[in-house]
Amino acid sequence: MKRPDVDVLIAGGGLAAQRCCETLRRLGFDGRIVVLCAESCAPYDRPPLSKSMLTDAREPQKLAFRSGEWYAAHGVELLLGIAARELDLAAHTVALQARRGASRGGTLSYRQLVIATGSRPRRLPALPIGGVVHELRTHADAQALRAALRAGHGRLAVLGAGLVGMEVASSARTLGLDVTLIEATSTPLARALPPALGHWLASVHRAHAIDVHLATTVDRAVLRGSGARLELSDGTAVGAGTVLVAAGTSPATEWLASSGLGAGPIPTDAGGRTRFPGVYAAGDAACFPDPYLDERIPSQHWEAAARQGAAVARAIVGLAPVQPSPSMFWSDQHGHRIQFVGHTPPDCEIEFDRDPAHDGSFAAWITRDQRPAAALLVDRPDALPRARQWIAGAHARAVADPRAVADPRANDARRAA
Ligand code: FAD
Repeated sequence: MKRPDVDVLIAGGGLAAQRCCETLRRLGFDGRIVVLCAESCAPYDRPPLSKSMLTDAREPQKLAFRSGEWYAAHGVELLLGIAARELDLAAHTVALQARRGASRGGTLSYRQLVIATGSRPRRLPALPIGGVVHELRTHADAQALRAALRAGHGRLAVLGAGLVGMEVASSARTLGLDVTLIEATSTPLARALPPALGHWLASVHRAHAIDVHLATTVDRAVLRGSGARLELSDGTAVGAGTVLVAAGTSPATEWLASSGLGAGPIPTDAGGRTRFPGVYAAGDAACFPDPYLDERIPSQHWEAAARQGAAVARAIVGLAPVQPSPSMFWSDQHGHRIQFVGHTPPDCEIEFDRDPAHDGSFAAWITRDQRPAAALLVDRPDALPRARQWIAGAHARAVADPRAVADPRANDARRAA
C-alpha cells in the first residue's frame, strides 16, 4: 500500500487539536503532523472572546496558544484557511476545501485521523446572523460584536442564558450598556445547575440591572438596519441596537455526514478512539465516556477539550489515558469566578457553606442520597481540589462525609489536629 501523505492528520485547529499535537511531540512522536484550520489563524483560546476581548479598552490581546515559531520548531504543519470537506474512511483520505482565498484544495491521505472540529452556534430562523444580529464563536465574531457594543447603538438583547450569553451580558454591563437577557428555560444554565442555583445566578444578573426574562421565547422579530424589535412570549417587547444569538451549540461534524461516522457528537472510548480503526475524536465534536456518570456525554467545555486532545495523543502512541478528574467548567460573570464540578443529579440536595444571598463567595455542595455529585464554587478557587476529591472519592466508594468536607472549618480543624 502507498505510504500515506500524513501520519497524523488533525481536522480542526482549536484547543483539542493544539493539545493533541503538543502532547504527541512531548511523548516523542516523530511522524508528520498536519492540522487543518478552517480559520485563517493558528489555534487560539476562546474563553477570552466573551470576556476580556469585549471589555478591555486596548486592542484584543494575542490569544494564540503557541507562536508560529513553535509550530515550525516542532514540525507541526498548520494549513490555515483550509477546511476538511469530506471523509472517505475506506480510502483513508480527507477532501480539503480552501476558504478565504487560500489556494489549496485536493485530498490528503492519513495513517491516523483526529476529528477536532469543535462546535458552532445554533442559529434561530427568525434571527439570521448579519447586520445587528451576532453570534460568538470565533475571533472574527468577537471583533464584530466588540465593534457593535463599543459603537453604543443602544440596548443589547441576548438570546440564551448559557455561559456565552451570560458572559456577554456581563461584559456589556461593564461597558455601560443596557442589557436584556432572554432564556427559554425557567433557569439559566438549566442543564448544568440545579434550579436553586440557576435562580441565584439570575438574581446576580438582575442585581447588575440586567433585564432577565426566563421561560420566555421570541415570538416575532422585526429587523431593521439600525436595530431590532423583539416581541417576547411573555407579552413584552424589546427594542435593541444589537442582538446576540447564544442559543447553544452543535458539533461541527456535518462534513462527516456521508462517511459512515454520522453527524452529531462522535462517540469514542476513553482514548478518543471511534469505532473505525485509526480514527479518533476529541473536544466539542466528540462524546467521551464520563467515568463519573458511566455514560458518554458531550462536554463542550475547555477542560474536557484539553484533556481529550491529550488523551488521543496518548492513544496514538499506545499509552493508556490518564484517569480524568470529575468534569469541570468555569465562567466569569459580574466580577465573580464561577466554577462547577461534577454533574447535577435529579432530586438533589444542596448544602451551602455561606449564605449566597448575603455573601459574595460561597461553595454549594450538591448530593443525592448523601452521595457527593457536584459542587458550585463562587470566588472559591481554593476549594476546587477539595471539590474534585470529594466527588472522585465518592465515586471510588470511599466513605465520604459530605458535611465534614463541605465545611472548610472542619477541614482546617482536622488539619490542625
Ligand atoms: P474549537 O476551539 O471550537 O476549535 C475547533 C476549530 O475547528 C475551530 O477553529 C473551527 O473553525 C475549526 N473547524 C470547524 N470545522 C472545520 C473543518 N471542517 N475543517 C477544519 N477546521 C474546522 N469553556 C469553559 O470551560 N469556560 C469558559 O469560560 C468558556 N468560555 C467560552 C467563551 C466562548 C466565546 C466560547 C466560544 C467558548 C467558551 N468555552 C468555555 C468553551 C471552550 O472554549 C470550548 O469547549 C473549546 O474551545 C473546545 O475546543 P475544541 O478544540 O473542541 O473546538
